[in-house]
Amino acid sequence: MPVYDLHSHSTASDGVLSPVALVHRAIGQGVDFLALTDHDELAGLAAAQQAASGSRLRLVQGVEVSITWHRSTVHIVGLHVDPREPILRQGLARNRAGRRERAQRMADALARIGIPGALEGAYAHAVNKDLIGRTHFARFLVETGVVKDVKTVFTKYLVQGRPGYVPHEWASLREALNWIHAAGGQAVLAHPGRYRFGGEKLRLLLSEFRDFGGEGMEVITGSHGQDQVPLLADLAVRHGLLASVGSDFHAPGEGGRELGSVQGKPMRLPERCTPIWSRW
Ligand code: AMP
Ligand code: MN
Ligand code: MN
Ligand code: MN
Repeated sequence: MPVYDLHSHSTASDGVLSPVALVHRAIGQGVDFLALTDHDELAGLAAAQQAASGSRLRLVQGVEVSITWHRSTVHIVGLHVDPREPILRQGLARNRAGRRERAQRMADALARIGIPGALEGAYAHAVNKDLIGRTHFARFLVETGVVKDVKTVFTKYLVQGRPGYVPHEWASLREALNWIHAAGGQAVLAHPGRYRFGGEKLRLLLSEFRDFGGEGMEVITGSHGQDQVPLLADLAVRHGLLASVGSDFHAPGEGGRELGSVQGKPMRLPERCTPIWSRW
């Protein structure tokens, strides 16, 4: 059975491997289909595609779009998008422009609690200066010894209710779906078990997502625990959504994640799920 990993990051967003190094690592891990899904960015796809050509690995051109839905941040993965499509490109450019301004507000908030120099510090970790994100701030805070690891930085400083968190308005759900569909892609709700809101609001999100034309949802993801897989599989079946799998890999050793697997196990979908790749 082919190995699918349909969610990963490179230095074009907040991953630490270049698109080429990412593809080579995925080949080494036995991945057959790899989606590169950088946050709000398509710039890594050409190099990744080139690195994959002539190898056994098939690159799926993807993206992970940040949206604001009912005042919460949610991520929508687009798979098989055409990176030349202007509607998608313009939309993502708008999300990226917002990141620059948000980073300034984050740095100001951190300075107020006695952590200076965070803007420059975070940018030093961002290979793509157009795509500054919270992970770059987290890596800066680890580097300066403020906090021991990236995960702890998030829980202490960078999530809602913490001093380095600033609210931000991303694209809407409808916009993200329009961009992905305009580019010929399939839309997949990313890591549905990670959102802080629970049962009822999640079901509302799934219904709206489906009604607006979304195709799939992640049932297995490195982004949250595997105890949720049976429930997510049920939700996918109930809402008529195709099922996707992805490690959400960012960096070797970070969060214990690896390409092509979660927690050292192959990502096998429950029988009742219809895989997102069933019509590829
Ligand atoms: P941003 O899009 O800049 O707000 O950053 C979102 C990214 O931060 C996610 O894609 C993850 O890479 C990372 N992230 C978010 N929450 C956590 C967390 N609790 N622990 C570690 N990384 C996180
Ligand atoms: Mn990320
Ligand atoms: Mn995400
Ligand atoms: Mn991701």
